[in-house]
Amino acid sequence: MKIIDISLKLNKETIIYPKNVPLSVTVIQTMPESATQLSSITMGSHTGTHIDSPAHAVPGAPTLDQVPLEHFIGQALVLDFSEETDEAVTKEMLISKDIKNGERILLKTRNSVRGFKDFYDDYVYLSGDGADYLASLEVILVGIDALSIKKRGSSDHRPHLSLLSKNIPIIEGLDLSNVNEGQYELFCPPLNFTGIDGAPARAVLIQK
Ligand SMILES: [Zn+2]
Repeated sequence: MKIIDISLKLNKETIIYPKNVPLSVTVIQTMPESATQLSSITMGSHTGTHIDSPAHAVPGAPTLDQVPLEHFIGQALVLDFSEETDEAVTKEMLISKDIKNGERILLKTRNSVRGFKDFYDDYVYLSGDGADYLASLEVILVGIDALSIKKRGSSDHRPHLSLLSKNIPIIEGLDLSNVNEGQYELFCPPLNFTGIDGAPARAVLIQK
């Protein structure tokens, strides 16, 4: 069994989506005086590798704690579009793959190849048509290797709305640079905040 970490490291170098809360970790109690070390952590709910709950985009929709854990644990299909596009994963590209009802889908793009040292405005995203298509297939989770699943500044909100309005949670901020297309076991439950729009998760793939 091989465990592949597909989450971004959280530290002062972590890329943050523009205008989101900066990530800061401050040691507030040090050893040896107090015999233990403690830190204060400040960050946004959509920092690093994180889950968007339906409540992120749909008023009154389920918050993170209301999304069953089954969405985040189980078989997942990684689809590699890194050679196919430097703009968007489209419906046509998705149709060319054999996606089945009820699957968990992780989208690998050029973002993972380019790396996560810097935030790039022109990251690869999921198109509105692509999101509509995945929602129509009733997949149970969609993940992408970008801090947002939609194009920066776009008024087409379907990448969030089509999925989240059908209670399909989204993982953003995946690092799929060490992963090839194929089937894996996914484990990525988010932190157990209640009543919240999203929260960081440690995401791993297990290859048998
Ligand atoms: Zn998010």
